[in-house]
Amino acid sequence: MAQLAASGPKVAVIGAGFCGLAAAYELGRRGIRATVLEMDGEVGGLAGSFATEGEPLEKFYHHWFTSDVHMMDLIGELGQSDKVVLRPSRTGLYYAHDFFKLSTPLDLLCFSPLPLASRIRLGLLALWVRRIRNWRSLEDVTAADWLRKLGGERVYQVVWAPLLHGKFGSLAEEVAAVWFWNKLKLRGSSRGGSGKEQLAYYQGGFSALADALVAAIRAQGGDIQLNRPATGLQVDGQRVVGVCTKEGTVAADGVVATPALPVIADLAAAHTSEEYATGLRRIRYLANVCVVLELDRSLSDIYWLNVNDPNFPFVGVIEHTNFEPASSYAGRHIVYLSRYLPDSDPFYQMSDEEATALTLTHLRRMFPDLSDERVLASHVWRARHAQPVVERGYRRLIPSAQTPLRNLFIASMAQIYPQDRGTNYAVKQGREAAQLMAEALVRG
Ligand SMILES: Cc1cc2nc3c(=O)[nH]c(=O)nc-3n(C[C@H](O)[C@H](O)[C@H](O)COP(=O)(O)OP(=O)(O)OC[C@H]3O[C@@H](n4cnc5c(N)ncnc54)[C@H](O)[C@@H]3O)c2cc1C
Repeated sequence: MAQLAASGPKVAVIGAGFCGLAAAYELGRRGIRATVLEMDGEVGGLAGSFATEGEPLEKFYHHWFTSDVHMMDLIGELGQSDKVVLRPSRTGLYYAHDFFKLSTPLDLLCFSPLPLASRIRLGLLALWVRRIRNWRSLEDVTAADWLRKLGGERVYQVVWAPLLHGKFGSLAEEVAAVWFWNKLKLRGSSRGGSGKEQLAYYQGGFSALADALVAAIRAQGGDIQLNRPATGLQVDGQRVVGVCTKEGTVAADGVVATPALPVIADLAAAHTSEEYATGLRRIRYLANVCVVLELDRSLSDIYWLNVNDPNFPFVGVIEHTNFEPASSYAGRHIVYLSRYLPDSDPFYQMSDEEATALTLTHLRRMFPDLSDERVLASHVWRARHAQPVVERGYRRLIPSAQTPLRNLFIASMAQIYPQDRGTNYAVKQGREAAQLMAEALVRG
C-alpha cells in the first residue's frame, strides 16, 4: 500500500455522505490528507439525522442487513463493533383492509389472500431467487414480466405489483428484473436458520457512527468543511487543481466527487465534452419525501408493514420503534411514511403541513384511532436524488469511476450495480474511489 507523507498530496472530497466520509477515511489511512466539502450543515447525506427529545433520528428510515459486510468491516476498524445491535424484524402486509404477518416461512404459508398453491409458489420463488448466479440474464427483462412469469398473475397483483408501484410509481413497469432480484436476495441474506429476518442498527443511531467516522478522519489529519458547497472545478490542462466554492478555491491534487451524477455533471460540464456531461445526466432518479411522526403510543407491533393497496401513496408504514426501542426517543413512538416520486409531483412540492395532513388522512384509513392528539410532533424530509431508476440495460448507462479528467474520480450512488444503493455499498464505493485516487497520485 502506498504511504504518502502528511505533507504530501491533498485530495478534495465533494460530499459528506457515507461514501464521501469513507473515501476521506480511506485516503487518510493511506497517508493522504483529505478535505471534505459538504453543502449541508451536517454530515451523513441521505443517512443524515435530526435531533429528537432523545437520540438523534435518521431523516429517512435506516437499518442494515446482516450481510452488509463493508459497513461492518469499517465499524470494526473504528473499534466500534460493540455498538452494532442485531434484532429480529417483524414484517407484515396490509391487504384488503386486513393485517398479515410475513416474518417467517410459516407466516407465508398462512397468507390467506393467496390460494395455497400460490403461497407455495411464492415461498419457492423466494428460495430459488437466492440461488440465481447469472444475474446478467435479468438485465434486459422488466421486473414486472419476470415476476409474472415466475409466480403467476395473482401473486404479481397481490404481492409484487404494489411493492414495485410503491417504490417506483409511474416508472414501476420500467424497472429491470435485476433490481428486484437483488432486493429479494438481500432480504433473504439477512435471515437466520429459522427463516427469521435479522436487521442491524447502531447504538445512538447512524449519526453516532458518522460522528465516529468524522473523529477518525480528523485524527488522521483530514478536514471536514460544512455549509461549503462545491460550485465548480478548477482545471489546468486535463488535471483538476482545485474545487471552486463561494468562499474561494480549495486547492487539491485530486478530487473524489460523491453527489448525484447530474450534480457532478454540472460541476464538471465546463471542462468535459457535452457528450460526457449528457451521459452523466442520462440516469433518471426519483426523489423521496419522508414524513416522520412522533406518536404517544404504538400503531402496531410490526416494524415494516408493506401496504398493498394502490390508493395508499407510500412504500409502507415503518414503525422504527418496533426495531429500536421507544425509550431511545424519550418514550415517543416513531413512524416513517416514505414516498418515492418525481420531483415534479405535487406531493414533493407541498408544504410540510399539507404533506403531514395528507399522510394522516391515509394512515387513519388503517388506524382509525390515530387522533391529532396522539401526534406529538411531525417532520417532513425531502431528497431530490434518492433512488436511481434501474431500468433495462442500466449497466450500459453507468459512468466509470475514472473521468476524462485524470485526477477526478466519481463515486456516486447510481454507479452501484447490480446491488441497489445503500450505506454498505456507499462505504465500499468510497473506499474503492480513494484507492483509485491514491494509485493515480503515485503514478503522477
Ligand atoms: C428513504 C430512504 C431509505 C433508505 N434506507 C436505507 C437503509 O435502510 N439502509 C441503508 O444502508 N441505506 C438506506 N438508504 C440509502 C442510503 O441512504 C444511501 O445509499 C447512502 O446514504 C448514500 O450515500 P452517499 O454518500 O453515496 O450519497 P449521499 O448520502 O447522497 O451523499 C452525497 C452528499 O453530497 C452532498 N452534496 C451534494 N452536492 C454537493 C455540492 N455541490 N457540494 C458539496 N456537497 C454536495 C450532499 O449534501 C450529500 O451530503 C435509504 C435511502 C433513502 C432515500
